[in-house]
This record gives sequence, C-alpha cells and structure tokens, in this order.
Amino acid sequence: MPVTLADIRAASARIAPHVARTPLVADPRLPQVWLKCEHRQRTGAFKLRGATNAVLTLPRRARAVVTASTGNHGRALAHAAQAAGIPATVCLSHLVPDNKVRAIRAMGAEVRVTGASQDEAMAEVARAVAHEGMTRIDPFDDPAVVAGQGTIGLELAEDRPDLHSVLVPLSGGGLAAGIAVAVKALIPTARVIGVSMENGAAMAASLAAGHPVEVIETASLADSLGGGIGADNRVTFPLCRALLDRVILVSEAEIAAALRHLAAAGHVVEGAAAVGHAAILSGRFRPEGPTVTILSGGNIDPGLHARIVAGANSVEAA
Ligand SMILES: *Cc1c(COP(=O)(O)O)cnc(C)c1O
Repeated sequence: MPVTLADIRAASARIAPHVARTPLVADPRLPQVWLKCEHRQRTGAFKLRGATNAVLTLPRRARAVVTASTGNHGRALAHAAQAAGIPATVCLSHLVPDNKVRAIRAMGAEVRVTGASQDEAMAEVARAVAHEGMTRIDPFDDPAVVAGQGTIGLELAEDRPDLHSVLVPLSGGGLAAGIAVAVKALIPTARVIGVSMENGAAMAASLAAGHPVEVIETASLADSLGGGIGADNRVTFPLCRALLDRVILVSEAEIAAALRHLAAAGHVVEGAAAVGHAAILSGRFRPEGPTVTILSGGNIDPGLHARIVAGANSVEAA
C-alpha cells in the first residue's frame, strides 16, 4: 500500500498544530447518522489536512509550490505555504467559482486562471515545474496528501469505535483513500463508501473500467468533485480499488435536497459535502448501524446557497 496507518498517524502529529480537530455531531432528523464537520475546518474544507502534511514534508531544496485545483486544495495549499513562508502558485480553470478565486488570492498566492477544464490547468502546472523550478503538490494523487486526509479516519475511529459505514465524497479519491486506510485498519468491519455526482464521476467510471478513464466535465452543484483522476494515477486509484466497498452516484436534485436538509440543521455546506446525505435521503443508501457522512467543505457561494434553499434543484435553475 502506498499509504499506511503509520503514515497517517505521523501526519496527524505533524499537522495537529495547524488544523482543527473537527466535531462529529448527530443529525437531528436521521437516526444513526453523524456528520463529520470539515466545513468548520480552517479554510473551509478538509483539504488543509493534506496540503499541510505535504508542505511540512517537502524536500529542503523546494522553494516554491504550484498546483491545479478546483478551489479548495488551492486555497488550502495557499494557506499551508503562507504558514511555512513558501510562495505558492495556484492554476485554476474557468469553471472555478469567483468566491474561491478571491479566497486564494487573499491568502497571498499567485492565481493563474487558464483553460476550460482541470486538465488544462494541469498543463500550466507542468509548465511552471519545467520552466520556473516550482514543486508541484497535486490535490489528491500524492501519498503525503492522502495521509493528511486520512487523519479524518483516525478521528472517526476515536469518536465512533462502533462505526458501521462512512459515506465519503469522491472525486480524485484522496479523501476516500485516506479515510479508508485509517478506518479499515482500526475498525476492520467498517464499510467505506464513495459518493459522486452522476455527471462526470471520474473515479466511479475508472473503477468500473478497471483503469483510469477520462470523463466529460459538466457543471454540477458538487463543483469540488469535478476533474479527472489522472491517466497516470499511482496512489488513489489503487487504494480506492482495494478499499472502497461501494460507489454510489447521486443526481443534482438529490444534492439540492440534501443541501436543504443540512441547511435546516444549521449546516451551510457546498454541494460536494452533501452527497453522502443525498445518498441516504434518496434511499440509495440505507444506514444499518452508526453511519457517518463527511461534510467535506463549506465554501459555497452564498447567493447560490440561498437559491438552493429557496427550491432550485440544479446549477442552471439557480
Ligand atoms: C476535494 C474535495 C472533495 C473530494 O476529494 P478527493 O480527494 O478529490 O476525492 C470533496 N469535497 C470537497 C469539499 C472537496 O474540496
């Protein structure tokens, strides 16, 4: 395995001074369901865990970092690099919402908005590495990043040793792989389930095909779940293939309904963070014991959130 429980324990000790240990709270309206509140994490998403672990384990000669990101990883890397006194450059596609672009700039990182997809933003990263000597820190396919995200799994096992299932938002698979390594090592009976949106679920399509495949990227309420897994994926595809018990796909209307359910309980989260709840509320997943959903981030445009709460069921309708 490219990432072990020992790697995750080391990451946990390393990043503890820099990240929040987020609460696990009960869902007031769904028995047996608990919410891991990573929307309350510093920078508004779990990505700070992996980015911080990666920055703190950089080789000494690394003097500048670069990444491509659907938003939250870029913001997290900007924060982690600033904390370590290292300059950061973040390459984004035009699909990334403005509020996220502003947040990254506000953290002192250089932002390059380029291309219509995550893959085109990745090409800009390759140029910066080749011609400007920067060190890339990818959003998911990096053992240090996966180990950082896995620290969530340690906390879950501590807080709910009776855990039956955990529903994890799934895109590149860093979050799901990290959580699965920790949870399966500590609670071997626990099930780890990845959840993605119906349109453009790259890891789901890749797992079904048995190798990384490209998918067509479309607008989704779960914008943080966009992007491919990389044709040369080394870390997260093998881990997800070995460790995920199941992958569930949810529709845009189901994500919208989950956002409304969570808002009613006082949790303002982005669409990607609501997919676990979408799986439960739609009946695609039935809890059979203590079940956790990962509220992975809260960085949603406030106007979009308000229109969803008012009844809109898709990005287009909002
Ligand atoms: C990045 C992200 C995910 C997906 O994480 P992967 O490691 O790419 O699978 C889920 N939710 C939010 C809010 C994210 O920012």
